[in-house]
Amino acid sequence: MDEFKTQLAAAGFSGELDDSEQAREFYSHDASLFEIKPQLIVKPKDSKDVQTLVTFVAENKKDNPWLSLTARSAGTDMSGGAVNEGLIVDFTTHFTKIEGVTKTEAHAQPGVYYRDFEKETLKHGALMPAYPASRDLCTIGGMVNNNSGGEKSLEFGKTENFVNELKVVFADGKEYTVKPLNKLELVRKMGQKDFEGQLYKKVFDLCEKHYDKIKAAKPKVTKNSMGYNLWDVWDRDTGMFHMQKLIVGSQGTLGLTTDIKYGLVPHRPHSGILVIFLRDIDRLGEIIPAVLKHKPATFESFDDATLWLSIRFLPSFLKLLGLPRFIHLLFSLIPDGLQLLHGIPKLILMVEFNGETEEEVRTKIRVLHHELKDHRVRYEINGEEEDPTELKSEKFWLMRRQSFNLLRSKVKDKHTAPFIDDLVVNPEHLTEFLPKIRKIIKKYHLLATIAGHMGDGNFHIIPLMKIEEPSERAKLLPAMKEVDELVLHYKGSLSGEHNDGLVRGPWLKQQFGAEVLGYFKEVKHIFDPENIFNPHKKSDANWDYSFSHIRQKF
Ligand SMILES: Cc1cc2nc3c(=O)[nH]c(=O)nc-3n(C[C@H](O)[C@H](O)[C@H](O)COP(=O)(O)OP(=O)(O)OC[C@H]3O[C@@H](n4cnc5c(N)ncnc54)[C@H](O)[C@@H]3O)c2cc1C
Repeated sequence: MDEFKTQLAAAGFSGELDDSEQAREFYSHDASLFEIKPQLIVKPKDSKDVQTLVTFVAENKKDNPWLSLTARSAGTDMSGGAVNEGLIVDFTTHFTKIEGVTKTEAHAQPGVYYRDFEKETLKHGALMPAYPASRDLCTIGGMVNNNSGGEKSLEFGKTENFVNELKVVFADGKEYTVKPLNKLELVRKMGQKDFEGQLYKKVFDLCEKHYDKIKAAKPKVTKNSMGYNLWDVWDRDTGMFHMQKLIVGSQGTLGLTTDIKYGLVPHRPHSGILVIFLRDIDRLGEIIPAVLKHKPATFESFDDATLWLSIRFLPSFLKLLGLPRFIHLLFSLIPDGLQLLHGIPKLILMVEFNGETEEEVRTKIRVLHHELKDHRVRYEINGEEEDPTELKSEKFWLMRRQSFNLLRSKVKDKHTAPFIDDLVVNPEHLTEFLPKIRKIIKKYHLLATIAGHMGDGNFHIIPLMKIEEPSERAKLLPAMKEVDELVLHYKGSLSGEHNDGLVRGPWLKQQFGAEVLGYFKEVKHIFDPENIFNPHKKSDANWDYSFSHIRQKF
């Protein structure tokens, strides 16, 4: 490796190169159940470094088949997207600059943590509303490449809706601006006699040739992170060509993102939630449309297992909140404790409304509350800093947002095993679908919480398992098969937000069929003919490879 490092430095790469055992061990994991030790970790200083790196790898790949480039930002990917053999390209060391923010757009580098990015946008009264539940841990570059979504996606959609412009280093080692083009601009671009011109021409030809089939392949749910977003690229009606939509959600398999311009929406300062405790889910079919009719900002849910988990690990919230807020939380939990005496709810639904004024929010909540009065509905409102009741709803957000993190860190002899962690079915099927899912969970004796985005029918089921034991590992494929078949039976998507990675890449054929998988393979080949970017993911995935890299130690 020393010789390789010397050659890379001689080629002009000026960032850090680290092949220490400690670094390789650290980068062998993300938040998924996989483990792959890379050969080398590289930390490019700037875009020029990324270009040098890509050029070097592309030129040397034939003689060194082990060479590949897998981008990594915060490494919170739950699908195995950020781990690989070859080189890991870390963007969190140097790509951390926020270039500029206005009320409507923010320009920043991919390694900026979302938490820092949001602080800046809020100074301008603006927000990028597709942030994920991992908002305190992840970066904006990871969000682009996973096409992340979260609690506000019900109203605003996912990251794909907010990417105005990207800079990406493609396989020829050059950085390009990728943004929406009108027909004239597209024709000009396709006329270029270079790598970029070829990219546009070939992708356009693919989209045009199979137009109807590609459009029809888009999963019929409100959220999807499976496959490549080919269906959103070319629109004959508007004459617009959106190459950036293909990069969004591509998990770094088509190129390396070096720069991002995100669209922003006004931050509405007031919010309030209505909490609905359901003892059984029979009436979910009526409640969901009744809630959605009122266009809430978020509509989240978590189950009784999540509730028990939060009670069991209550002391963990002390560290997270600090003493005064923790004491406030304890007091605010007293009424909920009394509620529990009447029976543990099977499902807790949180409906949030946002508004310009507190009165606006209160009115929206009152109207919905009135409409749902026959159900067991609790009513709470918070209005940010100036409202003393803020912490009343914080406890629900804590349970919803922190459940996976608590599972990750607290249950010592078992580990989170995200393999059925992000399924989506149309909410109209949930009354039927949820009991069937619970049945499968029970059949395989999986200790799992169910939390998610009720309004989109997007659920995160994250079992706790001793995955290092062969008997537990043996459950993965059959359980996954049953869950995935069920999801596909209801015409859902296997991933709404977390993307394919190693865990769901092998399921692209089941999700889309052989023909559409063929289009995905063509996309990958157009962009990355030597397969240097993040191999074994997306259309290059196969289950045997993935399965052989399941974590053996923790
Ligand atoms: C507790 C927890 C909760 C989560 N909740 C959600 C959720 O609600 N919604 C959601 O969508 N996800 C969620 N996730 C998954 C993950 O946090 C998000 O997808 C996040 O946006 C990934 O960001 P990251 O910076 O960690 O990216 P990474 O994990 O580093 O990378 C993600 C993918 O993008 C690629 N990539 C990263 N940077 C670049 C780059 N510069 N160029 C090209 N490719 C790149 C990587 O190769 C990888 O395939 C959760 C994860 C955890 C641990």
